Amino acid sequence: MIYLKNEEEIELLRENNLLVSKTLAELAKYVKEGVTTLELDKIAEDFIRSHGAVPGFLGYNGFPNSLCISVNENVVHGIPSSYKLRNGDIVSIDCGTILKGFYGDSAYTFAVGEVDQEKQLLMQVTKEALLKGVEQARVGNRTGDIGWAVQRHAESFGFGVVRELIGHGLGRHMHEDPEVPNYGARGRGHLLKAGMVICIEPMINAGTKSVVFERDGWTVRTKDRKPSAHYEFAVAITNNGPDVLTDFSIIEQAIAENN
Ligand code: MG
Ligand code: MG
Repeated sequence: MIYLKNEEEIELLRENNLLVSKTLAELAKYVKEGVTTLELDKIAEDFIRSHGAVPGFLGYNGFPNSLCISVNENVVHGIPSSYKLRNGDIVSIDCGTILKGFYGDSAYTFAVGEVDQEKQLLMQVTKEALLKGVEQARVGNRTGDIGWAVQRHAESFGFGVVRELIGHGLGRHMHEDPEVPNYGARGRGHLLKAGMVICIEPMINAGTKSVVFERDGWTVRTKDRKPSAHYEFAVAITNNGPDVLTDFSIIEQAIAENN
């Protein structure tokens, strides 16, 4: 069942995803060598609550924290811990909110200090792949057009596209229909209609596409332990083209100001 959103509902989703973007921008000040991922989680929870919202992931299917923080070979759903970030790490932070009955859900991969060329390229290509997917998020296209564009870009660099985890619709629930895979064939999948709000979230591995589910019940990591990156936008499908509800520019401004 796909719920189409009216303009008012899209604005509430924008409010949520802007708060997620602001939270990630706040975190950009603290993503440095020596900080623990649990400290980042606390900063995010306080920030979200101080804006009158509730962390969207806390307690979701029993998840214990406000952020999913996935370092290096961890792909997604990493649990915040006493791990201290190290120079050269890449850290994917996925953040959710609940405000006025709707969800926000966006993710960004940060570099800690100086990261090697492989990680730099992986981050750049994953973000580009996201933007290629967004270009396809148009009325009359299908979810397969999005997945095709993401997959084609990532694989042209020899990177692996995770199959087990995918994007999704977003609204009063964090995970709504349709499914939005990061791979696929043009012209296949769900037809995109005005009023759909979807999360496009490529999870791209430097090596193999294969992943392993860790015994903590949450963390997903690459099978070959090579690094993985994750960027996520919430996007409204409109008659005027894709309307991105997430704002990476404020995150990137914060990164530039704090490095
Ligand atoms: Mg997410
Ligand atoms: Mg998501």
